Amino acid sequence: MKKKDIRTLTKDQLRLFFQDNNDKPFRGNQVYEWLWNKGAHSFEDMTNISKTTRKMLEENFVINHIRVDQMQRSTDGTIKNAVRLHDGLIVESVLIPTPTRTTACVSSQVGCSLDCKFCATARLKRMRNLNPDEIYDQVMAIDKESRLYHSRPLSNIVFMGMGEPLMNYKNVLKAIDKITSPEGLAMSPRRITLSTSGVPKMIKKMADDDVKFKLAVSLHSAIDEVRTSIMPFNQKFPLSDLRESLEYWYEKTKSRITYEYVVWKGINDRKKDIDALISFCAYVPCKVNLIEYNPIDDDGFQQASSEALNNYIKGLESRGIVVNVRRSRGKDIDAACGQLANKT
Ligand code: SAH
Repeated sequence: MKKKDIRTLTKDQLRLFFQDNNDKPFRGNQVYEWLWNKGAHSFEDMTNISKTTRKMLEENFVINHIRVDQMQRSTDGTIKNAVRLHDGLIVESVLIPTPTRTTACVSSQVGCSLDCKFCATARLKRMRNLNPDEIYDQVMAIDKESRLYHSRPLSNIVFMGMGEPLMNYKNVLKAIDKITSPEGLAMSPRRITLSTSGVPKMIKKMADDDVKFKLAVSLHSAIDEVRTSIMPFNQKFPLSDLRESLEYWYEKTKSRITYEYVVWKGINDRKKDIDALISFCAYVPCKVNLIEYNPIDDDGFQQASSEALNNYIKGLESRGIVVNVRRSRGKDIDAACGQLANKT
């Protein structure tokens, strides 16, 4: 018989398990705390639980804990973890330190089913979705590293690692529930950002679910023809649908959206591209993060000139749109946006 992953059980189910096995339901609370708050890797770790009970747990369940197989440290302080899952597959997560915060960039899927032409992860086909506990474990591992190497706890989380979080929505939501609950890391949801390439139906679903975390959308172009050429799924989810879902999101959540945007030479560096972005920004309160391009081996994509970038900044700012330029971190260890591809 295949043993059940104990972390798929709710606290009530755990309490019931103990009750059914002639023990006190309260034992369930203790084990639950070990599993989530204390991040136990094995039943052996649960030192306030009797040996007999631990053995009983061992016979019934497994803890599918992740293992950090390899940790690489960049000269700029960025850390990249290659994380091994219980079935041997690997994903990557990144710790990004700045003077004021430490951010964990976590993966939501092994590989990715989308086919963004400029992203290294897109070249790995999607193998499977991560389970809630596998997402949670990545965060816990980075929190530990943050305390160890930067002497402070993790302050923020971005779902910008491998995968499309809205294609694994249920598990991502469960992981966020744990991260924000007092039994997990008790982190404020306002410190968590989910980044999506833009799946309209799911953006509306999130709004209906009244989520409290922030939303970022990888836009890269506000012209359908251009966006489809670099993000082919845009054919299926055109900008008009995306826009409508974002209007719905804002109406329900009143939470401002961040657009992530890379400017490439000869692709989206014309005045027409800037004008289209400005028009798109008028629909919903937003800000724009201009992200530096991290080359993957494809000659079709090159970082636009600083003049093109300045035109974007001037254009957006003249319309009162907040724009930030994001330098990439951890490039020397392939840890920057779009570079996660299990190279090691
Ligand atoms: N699937 C989600 C999250 C993962 S990507 C999404 O699409 O939002 C995180 C961000 O990195 C996205 O904005 C993505 O468009 C961007 N990105 C991908 N490849 C990149 C590259 N080579 N250089 C810079 N940014 C890249």
